[in-house]
Amino acid sequence: MSKLSVYNKKRNFNKTTEPIGKSSKRAKKLRLCIQHHIARKDHYDLRLEWNGVLKSWAVPKGPSYNDKDKRLAIMVEDHPIDYRNFEGTIPKGEYGGGTVMLWDKGYWEPVEGYQPNFKEGPIKFILKGSRLKGMWTLVKLKNDDTSWLLIKDKDEYHLYDDINEFNTSIKTNRTMDEIKANIKHIEITNPNKIIYKNPKVTKMDIVNYYKAVSKRMLPLIENRLISTIRYPNGSQKDKFYKKHFENIYGFLGKKKIVNKEEKQNDYYYIKDINGLISEVQMNSYEFHIWGSLANDLKHADMLVFDLDPDELLSLEKLREGVKDLKRILDEYKLDSFLKTSGGKGYHIVVPLSAKVTWENARTIAKNIAKLMEAKWPDKYTSNMKKEKRKGKIFIDWVRNTKGATSVAPYSLRVRDKLTVSMPIFWNELDKIKSDEITIEKAIKRLRRKDPWGEYKKYIK
Ligand code: ATP
Ligand code: MN
Repeated sequence: MSKLSVYNKKRNFNKTTEPIGKSSKRAKKLRLCIQHHIARKDHYDLRLEWNGVLKSWAVPKGPSYNDKDKRLAIMVEDHPIDYRNFEGTIPKGEYGGGTVMLWDKGYWEPVEGYQPNFKEGPIKFILKGSRLKGMWTLVKLKNDDTSWLLIKDKDEYHLYDDINEFNTSIKTNRTMDEIKANIKHIEITNPNKIIYKNPKVTKMDIVNYYKAVSKRMLPLIENRLISTIRYPNGSQKDKFYKKHFENIYGFLGKKKIVNKEEKQNDYYYIKDINGLISEVQMNSYEFHIWGSLANDLKHADMLVFDLDPDELLSLEKLREGVKDLKRILDEYKLDSFLKTSGGKGYHIVVPLSAKVTWENARTIAKNIAKLMEAKWPDKYTSNMKKEKRKGKIFIDWVRNTKGATSVAPYSLRVRDKLTVSMPIFWNELDKIKSDEITIEKAIKRLRRKDPWGEYKKYIK
């Protein structure tokens, strides 16, 4: 009998999206995950990799960092290793029906000299998760097949934190309610398609990335016209800009625009997470936004300054450029927000609360670029031409033209590396390179304060 036959027997895989149980090969390090599971009862599931499966315990009160607490842990059926990535909802009426949040993930190892005994206990082990760390012990209660106690050993991690402070997913940064609200699952086709080989990134990783950042990204992009860059084959070769509306999933907004030649075209915008994820399903991996809302295309509601350095310019000089521009914006009492481009430069975004016509927006941006050029002619140019850029930074103010785009905050950049156009704090400028934020780093940063939190004031 397979080790996972109990697991498989309990579940109907036509109804649940949990992974089918297959035992796996041993990896170099022993993996671990903890899920917060609100089913009939609220509990945490501790899972430790052992011999190709995840040994599992349901911990009703959850683990505690206090070494005085002894938390009951009920041993349950072995789970497949793939379960360590599972998060989502299990349909009502199915086994474990409810909501599952991936609460912690990482590695574990038995404490030296203590061969773990999964039948009789005890198991003394070190957890190397993001939230649970340090030494722990599982002891089995006598005269009971399934009851164990989970206890924190005394070390530098005991009394470290109250686990209830961690109420969002380690994978997608969502709360339980947000996981439950879920995405109207749009089926992701070819989820395992490899987009980057090294480090490996699949289409599903990209879907999960956008789900994870959606809470912060959506307010900054929704209801403004976008164009996306599509990668139908995952490769750079066949990419194309997609600007026009196409109704496949029914989640996108449509806006008719008549151009100078009186030709009509339908443009599109994202209204919610379903629109965002349906675009990713269609292989749109980069998102580029207009500087106005779809319902008011005559006015700009933001300015963007794109600092494009000459190829040979040092990072130091580029950062100096960002600071010089910031100082000018401060003098004009314009709030400004900083993000990496994910490529060679930084972008500075100035939200506008007043109604500013595109003509005026363009003039303001141009004058600021011209001012920099006049003040520091050897450092900056407002001229787009590459030959005028030698040793200088082009302050690209032309983005501030009706219909022009700039890459959206939190958009991925599909370049040599897969990077993120990442909102950062001003005081992080000297620490963060323009192309260093990867999916993994971006998701880690979501747990910290929002560097663009103040932007909310400007969102209508
Ligand atoms: P980098 O820091 O490497 O310059 P970037 O995003 O600033 O990255 P740019 O080439 O300077 O890239 O372009 C600025 C913006 O202009 C982009 O963010 C994009 O929105 C838009 N853009 C660039 N090329 C195109 C294009 N071929 N079609 C439509 N929009 C484009
Ligand atoms: Mn640029």
